[in-house]
Amino acid sequence: MADKITMSASGVLNVPTNPIIPFIEGDGIGVDIWPAAKLVLDAASKKYGIDIEWKEVLAGEKAFNETGNWLPDETITDFRDHLIGIKGPLTTPIGGGFRSLNVALRQILDLYVCLRPVRWFQGVPSPVKQPELVDMVIFRENTEDVYAGLEVEAGTPDAEKLRAFLKEGYGWAIPEMSGIGIKPISKANSERLIRAAIKYALDHNRPSVTIMHKGNIQKFTEGAFMKWGYELVRNEFADVAVGWNDCGGKPGSKLLVKDAIADIIFQQVLTRPKEFDVIASTNLNGDYLSDALAAQVGGIGIAPGANINYITGHGIFEATHGTAPKYAGQDKVNPGSVLLSGVLMFEHLGWTDAANDIVRALEATIAEKIVTYDFARQMEGATEVKCSEFASAIVDRL
Ligand code: NAP
Repeated sequence: MADKITMSASGVLNVPTNPIIPFIEGDGIGVDIWPAAKLVLDAASKKYGIDIEWKEVLAGEKAFNETGNWLPDETITDFRDHLIGIKGPLTTPIGGGFRSLNVALRQILDLYVCLRPVRWFQGVPSPVKQPELVDMVIFRENTEDVYAGLEVEAGTPDAEKLRAFLKEGYGWAIPEMSGIGIKPISKANSERLIRAAIKYALDHNRPSVTIMHKGNIQKFTEGAFMKWGYELVRNEFADVAVGWNDCGGKPGSKLLVKDAIADIIFQQVLTRPKEFDVIASTNLNGDYLSDALAAQVGGIGIAPGANINYITGHGIFEATHGTAPKYAGQDKVNPGSVLLSGVLMFEHLGWTDAANDIVRALEATIAEKIVTYDFARQMEGATEVKCSEFASAIVDRL
């Protein structure tokens, strides 16, 4: 009998060998990439006696067509009850409803960490000379910053009211016809994100955490994010971690926590990638950096991601690209992003042998130049295969 994944009072996930895992197939290319990824995930897990019962839950176009609702309550309840789930890409509904279904899921379940590991897989075409030096894990804050959605449109009564308030209350002269956005960065939300990044670095034997910020300009939001991060190291992790200024950059056997300004980090991840391991960032900075880094190692077709709340145990693993509607149903695109998100989920659940097997088989397939169109167009002498054929080739090499 299949069982739910649960979390113990001490915060440890209890994972049965036959867990129920909810999945959203996804819109557009979801019909292609999800079955391909599932084929590989099932084959790898079964080798180790794990029998996943996948439970389809609806969101996006499929949900709208079947229920008239883009994000049915049952879907939220299923993710809430089963703790861990996986999803393909979702169309953002136009003309009302949610701003974004992805953002709605993150907010409703308070999935405060957007986890994006970025590493190169042997054989993947890349625009840089030494992509193998990129091995970073981004912890992007997922709940606040300019993504909080606090904006008023230029010329509206709300914008004029806010403009007048800022002039009277603060003496701030905002030009007429300005759209105004609010960027909240709170101590509690910064701390829980940076705490998760530090714990991850310690658990995975990573030598450093870099706090990415734009604190030289935005002192009380981005600058505070950095300051609260360093205070957290002193207050909660002094026995195992140390801030750069407290050790002169020489941490001894402890985890080094340092910081870097957002603009320079984009240069340094290219020129000195070895210096970066775990990166903790505010929401918008992390969004930019994760796509730039994904490009450095082969593009969004294979970039995995997850949204996690380490306190409640909830996690939704997801393809990081969109629905690519022009390719939908053609059995053409690369299933790598949702597949590697599944690998990330396996690692999170403690199934590291199955996860490692998939990575090895994926690399073996790419090494033989058996690839989907996106890699084939960048490789000489490649055999271009369909999405489903790529998955079968990986299974053959497990
Ligand atoms: P997109 O769907 O990510 O597609 C942009 C381009 O990326 C594609 O045309 C394709 O490039 C490449 N690509 C994407 N997935 C690929 C894959 N699996 N394999 C190979 N190449 C892949 O971005 P978009 O066209 O801007 O967005 C379309 C819809 O997706 C929108 O409704 C948007 O709101 C939504 N979206 C959802 C998510 C999510 O659910 N997490 C994220 C982003 C966007 P080439 O044309 O060069 O082949």
